[in-house]
Amino acid sequence: MPEIDLLTTSTLGRASPEYLLRALVDSVPDYLFVKDTKSRFVVANPAVAEDLGLMVSDLIGKTDFDLHPRKLAEKFFADEQAVVESGKPIIDMEEFVVTRSGQTKWLATSKLPLRNAGGEITGLVGVCRDITARKLAEQALAESESRWNFALEGAGQGVWDHNLRNGTAYFSATWRKMRGIGLDEPVDPSREAWLERVHPDDRMRLIAETNQQNSGELSQNAFEYRERHRDGHYIWILSRGRPVEFNPDGSVARIIGTDTDISGLKIAEARAAEEKEEVYRKHLAALEKAHEATEAAHRLAESLARHDPLTGLPNRRVFAETLDRVVKTAPRRGAASCAVMIVDLDRFKPINDINGHAAGDTVLREIAARLGLLTRCGDTVARLGGDEFGIVVEATAGESPAEAASALAMRIIESVGRPVSIGDRSVEVGASIGIAICPDDGSDAETLLRAADMAMYRAKDEGRGAFRFFAQDMENALRERITLEQDVRQAVLERAIEPYYQPLMLLTENRLVGFEILARWTHPTRGKIGPDVFIPIVEKLGLIADMTYDLLRRACRDAKHWSSDITLSLNISPLHLCDPMLPVKLLGILSEADFPPGRLEIEVTETSLIADVDVARAALVAIQGVGIKIALDDFGTGYSSLYNLSELHFDKIKIDRSFISSMQSNPGSAKIVGSVISLANSLGLPVIAEGIEEWQELQEIIRRGGEYGQGYYFGKAMPAVEASEMARGANSKLKRA
Ligand code: C2E
Ligand code: CA
Ligand code: CA
Repeated sequence: MPEIDLLTTSTLGRASPEYLLRALVDSVPDYLFVKDTKSRFVVANPAVAEDLGLMVSDLIGKTDFDLHPRKLAEKFFADEQAVVESGKPIIDMEEFVVTRSGQTKWLATSKLPLRNAGGEITGLVGVCRDITARKLAEQALAESESRWNFALEGAGQGVWDHNLRNGTAYFSATWRKMRGIGLDEPVDPSREAWLERVHPDDRMRLIAETNQQNSGELSQNAFEYRERHRDGHYIWILSRGRPVEFNPDGSVARIIGTDTDISGLKIAEARAAEEKEEVYRKHLAALEKAHEATEAAHRLAESLARHDPLTGLPNRRVFAETLDRVVKTAPRRGAASCAVMIVDLDRFKPINDINGHAAGDTVLREIAARLGLLTRCGDTVARLGGDEFGIVVEATAGESPAEAASALAMRIIESVGRPVSIGDRSVEVGASIGIAICPDDGSDAETLLRAADMAMYRAKDEGRGAFRFFAQDMENALRERITLEQDVRQAVLERAIEPYYQPLMLLTENRLVGFEILARWTHPTRGKIGPDVFIPIVEKLGLIADMTYDLLRRACRDAKHWSSDITLSLNISPLHLCDPMLPVKLLGILSEADFPPGRLEIEVTETSLIADVDVARAALVAIQGVGIKIALDDFGTGYSSLYNLSELHFDKIKIDRSFISSMQSNPGSAKIVGSVISLANSLGLPVIAEGIEEWQELQEIIRRGGEYGQGYYFGKAMPAVEASEMARGANSKLKRA
């Protein structure tokens, strides 16, 4: 392109119009040319020449046939001849050309007829602009759009393209199909027309959502809504839009988006929701039921947790809570103080044992009712457990709690002592009562209860059927009892409890026939402690089986070398008799010690037989089955009947010491002893008289037919060494005889 002189305003004014026009034509990058009617170049600007690699002067007089490939030249020529002949211009005609050098380009060509003053066409003016770059860009866009469109349509998505500036829109085939709109059918692209098709329930929401979208606030948006199909039903559409062009104010000028028909999904969703709701409803019903049951269980548990189900009285927990509250609020209420009373029944256990639990329950219910009647409405009566009741006595003005409590205690002892009828029989129990005063004996529930408990134990110790107030020395007694328990436990575990042996004699021959194993314990600091004291503790600690087996093991060892006709008698506690393992354990120990079962006898008391005759019978049968003999101990003190004697097969019976010792002073006792002996003999049962201390007693028993006996007269329980000596002596005496 020729250099254009930089013309100042002053020089411009002096330049000729031809010069200025030439400068203008030469500086334009478009191709400008003038041709005659035969399409020969008359004028061309440098852009035309340069593009062909020529000088402008080289072009003049030439035609396109001289410059371009033939095909292209023919096209140019034909177009130009048409313009020259018809006088109709060609404006902005886009044409694709391949130049002589093989270059391809897009041109926007305008060719206009050139006329002389007479209006005659003398040639043409041509203007060509290279639009290759724009064309390529457009092509690329169209290609990518069609690819995108194709992919979306293939995936069942309808494509739409809204030009918000001019209100035009494009809707794809799938978009139309979705709505039942034909491919050639015109679609009103306005928002109003669209909203009219939208389900009324979704309309307001969509207006708001699309407003927000069109304002340019959202870079992407997705709506779910219902749109009316051509045939009237509604389809669910998921519409995703994306603004692609914006106005200068930021609002959206063009949005492209896709629509997906999600009606199927929505139906499935609705069905699933329905099913879910059905399941949920069922669950809810089940839950409600479960909840009701739980509530009921809770209420029951709560009531059980607070009440004794047998008597309906509050239980120990509630009692402690009530006591706690009374103790804490007493000073505020101005009440002087209160008393706590523990009522424990006397002689209740045998009733339970002999007449059965149902009878025991009747007694407890009756006593509970009597206590309720005796107390004032402000007092709390509770069952603390077993045959133990608790009462909180709140003193009224003008009376000390001690006075109130002792008056009540006397009435209780009298009332509880009255017979209780069980069916057609009647039984009697008594009450031992302990009383603690608040705040003298304690200012909290726990301390007061403990104090009342101690006082109750004292009442029991001192002969029952009485009441005692707490005194400080009881604390020590309690402490002692606790220490003793710990010592007993240790003694059993360390095997400090030893077997002693008391001789059993065949009276008529004055001959040793066996030994009763009696437990002995020497306390490390307190010396000898009797089995009457420690055996109940061993039982309470649950260690009686351990102790018994240990004694038997040691006794078998001790007696092994004694004469083979000397028996061993082992005391079995009532609780232990019910242990189904007992026969097996006994047999195990005997076989281990190689001690014949026939040389062992066990002694059981009547009490152990009464509680559950069936269990007792089974145990006895099993024990006898392995060859061990059974003696009924302490006969006469308990409640055994002839029934027991004939029904349960004992090998011996032992008449209780109390009958023997009172025989001299009480002719009735002697008679009883006599009839027991003759009864036993009639059943073929040997009898052992216990506690023979005097020669006279021995004679009396022999006279009445007693065969066997035991007592201080023959010897107290002795350690193994002495028993061995005695056994050896008996043996030699026997040998001598
Ligand atoms: P029990 O089975 O009736 O034992 C006989 C008790 O009478 C023994 O008392 C014995 O020492 C005592 N005794 C024997 N002859 C006379 C006498 O002529 N005069 C007096 N006053 N007493 C005599 P102990 O050893 O104090 O035992 C008392 C109770 O303790 C026993 O009564 C028994 O029930 C129980 N016991 C003792 N050792 C054991 C044991 O190893 N196991 C079990 N379960 N209980 C035992
Ligand atoms: Ca015994
Ligand atoms: Ca006895």
